[in-house]
Amino acid sequence: MEHSRYRGRFAPSPTGPLHFGSLVTALATWLEARTANGDWLVRIEDLDPLREPPEATDQILHSLEVHGLHSDEPIRFQSQRHPAYQSAITQLLGSGKAYPCTCSRKQLQAHNGRHPFQCRERTSAPEDAPHAIRFALSDESCQWQDLLLGSQRQSVRAELDDPVIQRKEGFFAYQLAVAVDDIDQGISHVVRGSDLLDMTAQQQQIFQALGAQPPQWLHIPVILNDQGQKLSKQNHAPALDDSKPATNLVHALLALGQQPPAQLTNATVDEVLAWARAHWQRTAIPLTSRQARGITSSTQSHSDR
Ligand code: GLU
Repeated sequence: MEHSRYRGRFAPSPTGPLHFGSLVTALATWLEARTANGDWLVRIEDLDPLREPPEATDQILHSLEVHGLHSDEPIRFQSQRHPAYQSAITQLLGSGKAYPCTCSRKQLQAHNGRHPFQCRERTSAPEDAPHAIRFALSDESCQWQDLLLGSQRQSVRAELDDPVIQRKEGFFAYQLAVAVDDIDQGISHVVRGSDLLDMTAQQQQIFQALGAQPPQWLHIPVILNDQGQKLSKQNHAPALDDSKPATNLVHALLALGQQPPAQLTNATVDEVLAWARAHWQRTAIPLTSRQARGITSSTQSHSDR
């Protein structure tokens, strides 16, 4: 299937409020979609209530609004998509591309968290044994063209690394849900942080197993804190200061290698976005991770996390 229209998305997992690194990703996805005259969608990947503070989704959506980033279609919530994920699992089990795995945490730990057992041979799970569902990867040397990083190659080692697509507790996993929704929403281009680069080859196999063409990929550098860690909730990245959206956007443009004029910090959000659209240069995005030093500190007047 050829995608005729550009359709991009920003797909945060609501594990906390938007921070500077996620704004950079959101802005890059938005600019790529806007400059291609395409659609830009927001999808909340709320698959794991145990890791998601209930207020995070509203905080993220509020921050996006304040920063002028409006979804072209109603926002999709993965928590409302369980039947679609279940039917993808049924399809993959039926075609032999997925299998039940009864390995206990202890058994996996004894093998460095990897999957050493022959669960693939079994056609159905023992009725009452708790089990996860794994995707059966194929061994391959996978090659694809990243729109920023160029030619990428990754070897996929089957079985040991077969990803869990449904957890024992019943939760659907990111690897499955992201592919099911990208297919269902007709996403033609995925722009995201390069921390997800390692997932790409596996996801391409999941797309193909579901009968779909993988999207085009563009992986942008992740933003690091002073300690060289990715900005994330786990690393206590401060929430964006929603009272200074234009300044935040200017700093996000700088992180993306763009050259906004200094006076833009005094402009409105719409003016900053209009400038960014008119001057967007994908080739100026730096290839490697970028230190957030001096960027987050000047955009944060308070850190509430
Ligand atoms: N939900 C994922 C995250 O917040 C991103 C999914 C993707 O862009 O593929 O890390």
